[in-house]
Amino acid sequence: MQVEYLIIGQGICGTWLSYFLQKENKSFLVIDDNQNDSSSRVAAGIINPVTGRRIVKTWMIDELLPFVETAYNELENLLGVNVISSKTIIDFFPTLQMREAFLQRQKEESFLQMPVDEEEFINNFSYDFGFGYIRPSFIIHLEKLLPAWRNYLVRSGKFSEETFDPAELKISPGEIQYKHLIAGKIIFCDGANSLNNPLFRRLPFALNKGEMLLIDAKGISDEYIYKKGVALVPMQLKNIFWAGTNYIWDYDDNLPTREFREKTEQQLKQWLKIPFKILEHRASVRPANIERRPFVGLHPVHPNAGILNGMGSKGCSLAPYFAKQLADHLIYGNRILPEADILRFRKVLSQ
Ligand SMILES: Cc1cc2nc3c(=O)[nH]c(=O)nc-3n(C[C@H](O)[C@H](O)[C@H](O)COP(=O)(O)OP(=O)(O)OC[C@H]3O[C@@H](n4cnc5c(N)ncnc54)[C@H](O)[C@@H]3O)c2cc1C
Repeated sequence: MQVEYLIIGQGICGTWLSYFLQKENKSFLVIDDNQNDSSSRVAAGIINPVTGRRIVKTWMIDELLPFVETAYNELENLLGVNVISSKTIIDFFPTLQMREAFLQRQKEESFLQMPVDEEEFINNFSYDFGFGYIRPSFIIHLEKLLPAWRNYLVRSGKFSEETFDPAELKISPGEIQYKHLIAGKIIFCDGANSLNNPLFRRLPFALNKGEMLLIDAKGISDEYIYKKGVALVPMQLKNIFWAGTNYIWDYDDNLPTREFREKTEQQLKQWLKIPFKILEHRASVRPANIERRPFVGLHPVHPNAGILNGMGSKGCSLAPYFAKQLADHLIYGNRILPEADILRFRKVLSQ
């Protein structure tokens, strides 16, 4: 078999890269081993226009939002499944200081608004300091999107479910060979696994573990995403919510921890006025990095090997945008944003 591109991984990065290559009628094969605990399969799928306790605008969000909304809608139409929903985040203020910070930031930030009726959620939630709206925000329904795109690729003969073995890869100047496959280029979209990749492991990854609970809670409207330390995100199943998360930088395995479960259950008991049941507890490793900027582009020494990775906690908004940049770079030689281009690590990658 001969293709122009071999893509390793079909998380949110591999999904979008293959989508944009497909749109340009390029030939490719995606290899993915369907890891149940990959980052994209555990994520909540939130696109939040503001970040952190200081509620600052998310990096590049003014460009990202219109782009990703259009891209997900396109994919939704192609696949015939609902992959994106627009939501308002109800940001319950945990302290008076946080309320004041929000009121202050709201003066200069159009994503933040105060409600007319701050009693609106009083029947289901405990809160003493009111809440603000963050909008527009989005939920990407990864649990629908990833299998639907995979099935689409399977039907087109462009998908192979297997574990990629780097020992079988041969890179020569004009092409790459993997087992019986010849390709022009190989692009790694293998998430946290890239840290084990001899070509790219020198990139400054700073992986961190994150966890979530899936809960059943009757009576909470699925019109919103709710936040108060914990984020509560409606899934597309009635009364089912994703609850999380945490950031563990120092960990020995990628398994769920008892500490997270107990702490989150406690927080939910204090916050929710209604009973809930924990259905699932899962963990994954975020492919994050020190700079909090994506890793996009071709290897400086082996230019027929590339990467789309390093999305940290923002894969849903960054992946479509930078997959398009990478596809345009591969096909037309267009420029990749220097802040995201891996050529900024030319020295370490050339060692
Ligand atoms: C708890 C948690 C909550 C999160 N919430 C959000 C959120 O709300 N919004 C947001 O934008 N981001 C969120 N994230 C971050 C988001 O999940 C990541 O940014 C994104 O999923 C990374 O996607 P990826 O495609 O780079 O990697 P991955 O999703 O890890 O995909 C890599 C793929 O490669 C495959 N693979 C790996 N190695 C091999 C191999 N050797 N052979 C074959 N296949 C292989 C895996 O099976 C997998 O399918 C969250 C992460 C966590 C852990």
